[in-house]
Amino acid sequence: MPARQTITIIGGGVIGLTTAFALVREGHDVTLIERHDATGREASYANGGQLSYRYVKPLADAGVVREAIGWLLRENSPISLRLRADPHQWLWLAAFLRACSRRTNRRNAALLLDLALSGQRELQVWREEGLGNFLWRRPGKLVLYRNAETFRKAAESAVQTAGDASQEQALSPTACIAAAPAFADLLPRLAGGIFSPQDEVGDCHLFCEALRAALAKESGFRLVHGVATLRRDARGQCEVMLDGQDFEAGLVVLAAGIASRALARPLGLGLPLYGLKGYSLTYRPSPDFLPEISVTDYDNRVVYARLGERLRVAAMVDIGAEDTSLDPRRIAGLRALVARTLPGMPVMEDEPPWAGLRPATPTGVPLVTRTRIDNLLLNVGHGALGFTLSVGSALRIRDIVARRDGKGGSA
Ligand SMILES: Cc1cc2nc3c(=O)[nH]c(=O)nc-3n(C[C@H](O)[C@H](O)[C@H](O)COP(=O)(O)OP(=O)(O)OC[C@H]3O[C@@H](n4cnc5c(N)ncnc54)[C@H](O)[C@@H]3O)c2cc1C
Repeated sequence: MPARQTITIIGGGVIGLTTAFALVREGHDVTLIERHDATGREASYANGGQLSYRYVKPLADAGVVREAIGWLLRENSPISLRLRADPHQWLWLAAFLRACSRRTNRRNAALLLDLALSGQRELQVWREEGLGNFLWRRPGKLVLYRNAETFRKAAESAVQTAGDASQEQALSPTACIAAAPAFADLLPRLAGGIFSPQDEVGDCHLFCEALRAALAKESGFRLVHGVATLRRDARGQCEVMLDGQDFEAGLVVLAAGIASRALARPLGLGLPLYGLKGYSLTYRPSPDFLPEISVTDYDNRVVYARLGERLRVAAMVDIGAEDTSLDPRRIAGLRALVARTLPGMPVMEDEPPWAGLRPATPTGVPLVTRTRIDNLLLNVGHGALGFTLSVGSALRIRDIVARRDGKGGSA
């Protein structure tokens, strides 16, 4: 067990909370600062609910630009692009384009897979040790493809990425519908699907609540509500201010989602984070309709996950959206897409739509690392996979903290 340290985490989303949990379990004294009165209220609130451990390929890939141009011309496109007079947007897009090669994609997918699978193993331990209910299930996930060539490539790369063919199975269109009968209307248009039997689902907000409740029982943990700001002191260390007052922070872990970029700027750190806006809808269909497995409609980039008695549907990447306001056109577009995909769905209730900003790096790989500032670590930039990668990233921070006590090399 490493020496007990005083650690301050900025941000009470899924990343900050899992980090706090991993560090408290190691015996550290942890304070988590969250600006809202509640935790898990921003990007971690009503996301797609998929713990998509086997399907972590970054968006930046060879051919994606051609595909994106096709999407941008479509009505109800999964991607919308609003170019702004904002150098940060241009630099981020340029870095994204540089990452669009097959080699880079494979390398980054392998890094993400490693992070994801280590988190899956640890989450099992946390659940078995009594972490509260967050509607967790392991039903497996099916990615549906309409285009034969895209499906063929996905089948090839799924096995290569996973390195273990038994973990991912290519299914025929009829086998897809046998696994997910709610999607029967798609049958004539399907080329096939990739099924990952070990993938899981859960309600990310309830997961945050379960972590908060578990942390509240720990004597080494403190949750403080207030706005943190960061600056460098005369020795070059990171100092935390809480609501404008000095705060005794010790080691600092920045985990403030998309706000991390602005927070790090006064420290001289330019984080390559961009907020990719997405939307979710939550339906309460009649119970016999709910699909057991989680499903991704690849061509429309829509994910469907059963969370208890509800069906969570999440989609859309709006590049250049600056806030989480609900764009009525995009919501109507998503509703229409769901109605076309699941025309037989008997909806009993419909919860309010939601929008969030995915804190994305151009490569899709989060920054889980030390910095050149001795007492500052980063756990940011989890993009579209923050729920999936949260526990693995928390373990990585735990290990970096342990190495600060002379147990190993740099991160
Ligand atoms: C539509 C959509 C669908 C998604 N679907 C999935 C999915 O199916 N599976 C998956 O794995 N991921 C999914 N994601 C991604 C995932 O939701 C995010 O990657 C993840 O929630 C990011 O967590 P975070 O803790 O970094 O950020 P956040 O949840 O945004 O948390 C950051 C926290 O920091 C706090 N904060 C910010 N600034 C300050 C400050 N100055 N002082 C104090 N506190 C501060 C904020 O209030 C906030 O609570 C989806 C995202 C979206 C938008």
